Amino acid sequence: MAGEAQDDCLFCKIVAGQIPATIVRETDTTVAFRDINPQAPTHVLVIPKAHHKDAAALAAEAPQLAADVLRETRAVADEEKLDSYRTVFNTGSGAGQTVWHAHAHVLGGRGLEWPPG
Ligand code: 5GP
Ligand code: ZN
Repeated sequence: MAGEAQDDCLFCKIVAGQIPATIVRETDTTVAFRDINPQAPTHVLVIPKAHHKDAAALAAEAPQLAADVLRETRAVADEEKLDSYRTVFNTGSGAGQTVWHAHAHVLGGRGLEWPPG
């Protein structure tokens, strides 16, 4: 069911503390942790604690939770002292999604090109 923890999901395991992560912020509904393969000086992933497969599913199934994730991207940027940063939701394998638990990438600390690759 939407929102239930999945046994085979890496990010559900991070939420449960079964896999270590460098957590930078946590709220009742979200966790933010450093990406294991950073693409910028700041590269933090913000996830809902509940399992939703991507950003679109999250917005449809739990809009308040989607808002929580977005609000946390700003909080992470503030903590990292970033005036400018990029929030990315890769959605679908063709766009580079590899983990099927909704997550926002917060990238900053260097110049960012547009359009992205
Ligand atoms: P996606 O490619 O789905 O948009 O993003 C998944 C992100 O998760 C990638 O940037 C990848 O580096 C990161 N990632 C994959 N496995 C782990 C892990 O075990 N720990 C952490 N902290 N990040 C991970
Ligand atoms: Zn999950």
